[in-house]
Amino acid sequence: MAELTVIKSPWFDDFPALNTQVYEKRLRYLDTAATAQTPNAVIDRMTRFYQNDYASVHRGIHYLSAKATEDMEHVRTQVSDFLGAEASRNIMFTKGTTEAINLVANSYLRPLLSPGDEIIVTEMEHHSNLVPWQLLSEFCGATIKVWQLNKNNELDLNDIKDLISRRTRLISVTHLSNVLGTLNSIKEIVSYAHKRNIPVLVDGAQAVMHQKVNVADLGCDFYVFSAHKLYGPTGTGILYAKSRHLERMVPWEGGGAMIDQVTLPMGTSYGQAPWRFEAGTPNIAGILGLGAAIEYIESAGLDKIAAYENQMMEYLVESLSQVNGIEIYGNDDNRIGVVAFNMKGHHSFDVGVFLDRYGIAIRTGHHCAMPLIKKLGQSSVCRASIGMYTQSSDIDALVQGLNRINQLLR
Ligand code: PLP
Repeated sequence: MAELTVIKSPWFDDFPALNTQVYEKRLRYLDTAATAQTPNAVIDRMTRFYQNDYASVHRGIHYLSAKATEDMEHVRTQVSDFLGAEASRNIMFTKGTTEAINLVANSYLRPLLSPGDEIIVTEMEHHSNLVPWQLLSEFCGATIKVWQLNKNNELDLNDIKDLISRRTRLISVTHLSNVLGTLNSIKEIVSYAHKRNIPVLVDGAQAVMHQKVNVADLGCDFYVFSAHKLYGPTGTGILYAKSRHLERMVPWEGGGAMIDQVTLPMGTSYGQAPWRFEAGTPNIAGILGLGAAIEYIESAGLDKIAAYENQMMEYLVESLSQVNGIEIYGNDDNRIGVVAFNMKGHHSFDVGVFLDRYGIAIRTGHHCAMPLIKKLGQSSVCRASIGMYTQSSDIDALVQGLNRINQLLR
C-alpha cells in the first residue's frame, strides 16, 4: 500500500498555514496532537468579531455587548449539543483542558476530600491530568493511586479492581493517549466505577477531534477538552459537568460575572451555574472561534473525518514500519491520530531537529507524559500526529527524512 497510495485531503485548502514555507521547504505539519491548524472559517469568525462586533459580554446594555453575549451563549448551546450534554448550563468555558481539570479539582473535589481519601489516575495521563490531583492531595492529605498499564501498555479493567476502595473519591482518565493514540474503553470504566458510586472525569483533549463524543452515552461525570485541538483557537476550553455535580460544586475563582450580590466585609452570594464558575472577562473571541470550529467540522462530517484519518493512520504506520531501525510504541489495533516512535542509534531530539530542516514538524521529548515515557523504558520519543488535513505526501516526506537520517547520521 505504502508505495501505491496518493491520499489528498478534501479539506487541505481550508487551512492557510499549511502553505507556509519552512527553510524554503513546504511545511509538513505532523504535530496536530500539540495543536491543530486553524481553518479559514475560524480565523474569519474571530476577525469578524474584532472588526465589526467587538464588545465585552454580560455587563453591557448597548447593542454590541448584547450581541456578543448572545453569540457567546449560542456557542455554549452548540458545545452542549456537540457533546450530547443535558443542557447548556452543564457547559463551562475555561482557558483549556488544564484549567477545566483544575476547576473540577478545586470546585468539586476539594470540598469532598478528607485526609486518607483516594484519587485514581492512570499511568498514561498527560501532566495536566496528574499534577492538579497531586496538588490537591498535598493540600487535603489525600492519596493518589496509580492504575498501571499492562504489558501491552493498555488499561485493563481487572487491574483497577484492587485499586478501588471505599475511600476512592474520583477516577480521572484520558479518553485517548496523547503519546500512544490508545483509545480507552471509557463506557466500561464508567459503568464499573458507577456501580461503586465513584465519579469519573474524562480528559477528552485528544479525542474530540477524531471521533464523535457523546457524554450521555459515555456516562461520565466530567468531560474536558481544549478548543485548539479541535481546529479552534488557543486559550479556550470546556468543562462538561453532570447536573448533580454542578449543584454541589463551589466557586473556585472569584471576580466579576460570577456573583449575585457583593457585600462587605463578607457575605457575597454567587450567581447560577455555569456563570458562577467563569469569573472575569472570558476569552470571547476564542469562544466564538470554538463555535466556528464546531460548525466547520460538523459540516465536514465527523464520520467522514474519522474515516479519512483512519486511512491516513494506516498509511502512516505502514510507511514508518518500513524505515530501518524504527521502534513504534502502542497497539496497532488501537491507535488513533498519533504514533510514537524512536530510531535505533538516534536520539529523538536529533531526529526532530534534522526533520525540521526539511520542513517536517514532529514533536519530540516526554510529551508532558513523563510516567508513560518511563514505562516505555525511554527518556524521550518522537511523535507524528495527523489531522483532517494531513496528506500522504506529508507522510512520504517524513519517511524520506527518516531514511536520510539513517544514511547521513551514522
Ligand atoms: N490532556 C491531554 C491528553 C493533552 O494531550 C493535552 C495537551 O497536549 C492536555 C491535556 C492539556 O491541554 P491544554 O494545554 O490545552 O490545557
